[in-house]
Amino acid sequence: MKVRTRYAPSPTGFQHIGGIRTALYAYLFAKGNNGDLILRIEDTDQSRYVEQAEKYIIDSLSWLNIKPDEGVGFGGEYGPYRQSERKKLYHKHALDLVMKGHAYFAFDTPEELEAMRDRLSKEKASNQQYNALTRMQMRNTLTMTEQEVQEAIARGDKYVIRVKLPENETITFQDEVRGEVSFNTNQMDDKVMFKSDGMPTYHLANVVDDRHMKVTHVIRGEEWLSSTPLHVLLYRFFGWEDKMPTFAHLPLMLNPNGKGKLSKRGKELGFPVFPLAWEDLKKGQSADGYREIGFIPGALVNFLAFQGWNPGTEQEIFSQEELAKAFSLDRVSKSGSRFDFEKAKWFNAEYLKAMSDEALADLVLAQKSNTLDYDRAQIVDLVGMMKERMTFPQDFWTQAGYFFEAPKSYDEKTIRKKWKDENKAHLNQLKDKLNALGDFQEAQIEKTVKSYIEENDLKFGDILLPLRLLLTGQKGGPSVFAIAEKLGKEESIKRIQEGFQVFDKIANAAS
Ligand code: GLU
Repeated sequence: MKVRTRYAPSPTGFQHIGGIRTALYAYLFAKGNNGDLILRIEDTDQSRYVEQAEKYIIDSLSWLNIKPDEGVGFGGEYGPYRQSERKKLYHKHALDLVMKGHAYFAFDTPEELEAMRDRLSKEKASNQQYNALTRMQMRNTLTMTEQEVQEAIARGDKYVIRVKLPENETITFQDEVRGEVSFNTNQMDDKVMFKSDGMPTYHLANVVDDRHMKVTHVIRGEEWLSSTPLHVLLYRFFGWEDKMPTFAHLPLMLNPNGKGKLSKRGKELGFPVFPLAWEDLKKGQSADGYREIGFIPGALVNFLAFQGWNPGTEQEIFSQEELAKAFSLDRVSKSGSRFDFEKAKWFNAEYLKAMSDEALADLVLAQKSNTLDYDRAQIVDLVGMMKERMTFPQDFWTQAGYFFEAPKSYDEKTIRKKWKDENKAHLNQLKDKLNALGDFQEAQIEKTVKSYIEENDLKFGDILLPLRLLLTGQKGGPSVFAIAEKLGKEESIKRIQEGFQVFDKIANAAS
């Protein structure tokens, strides 16, 4: 039997990174088992519908190279894949449940439901559900006469279809992540299956679609675990017990401090919680995205794969194909995973390092609107030198700006520490030696500087650090000899000369 998984988001807002991880796991599981991933849009809750949400989901998945085999935007034989376009099917199944005695019509108004909860609360009932213990006191087709029902319908009273759960039955199912899970029906609700607005609820539509789309594995967030016994019952009521999918509920993604589900407010956490940036002009809200802050799709995927799963080996860097091969549900952890943005950055840095200089140069250049002002060959050459230190493509411009113009500011604290008269005199002489070099190559520069330091019995830090500051303004970076070579003799000498005056001023101002 072909493995078929689905990602079934509700378009109620911009897709959070937690949902993307669910999509990724469903994708990896499908791909690792020669199966298909379906993208189904669960848009039955019209009151929460957000127009841009569907496009955002598709764009996010496409950026991350999580490619559904069928679904909204991808075609397929089991469509339509938008639930709002499948209303008839759900209605038919809701009526089927009624016919089989597993569901009933209920006419209770919101006030009546409220009154029921109040009464149960006063009686200190252990729960306040509409179920086997309470349904006989409510207004539904189990308690009303045929005539009362006809009258209510003729009056235009609103009604819903509720599932009729058995009393005091323990429902047990196997979860691939959690093992055996049980719930008692007395703790459950006769949930609404079909609403008065002609739309099914999540539960009915979800189960009907999983069956009709031949889904074999339901991989979804932990928040749906408590809905699963109801789904198991629906499979039974429909007579589909032997076709029930395998369930796997993924652990929650937690805030970095381990407290609570990962927030939707990245601004407060200091890192994005959305794959792509978005802006809601109507609500005046916006959020950063991983794409816009410089994440490589493969790095984000690799990171997300590890937020709740591990391969059981030391290997951390995995291509998407390798992840699909290695991924298995039995290595998904039961406990929530704290979101580790530092680790995400680490993955990105590793992915940048592994890129060819050419490809990285393109990403670096893409950060600029005036790319024609730059010599691509020079950028290719320089990224090779800088990539060990970069986390994001834009780091190139903040860390290597000195290749394009002389530093405008300097690390003043270090200058104050190192700008001593004797060091100055030596640097002056060293400058003349460098100026006299015929071949201004890294190796020659290094030899000249190092022999000078050794001959004069100086400390490396006393000379190399000020030299680096003079050339770049910064106290860290790649080899200072390599930097000097890239700058060329004329520019290097000029920076040393001009820097002397600036450094004097900085040092004097301090004393
Ligand atoms: N529409 C549900 C959601 O938004 C899908 C849950 C499931 O996968 O069954 O998460």
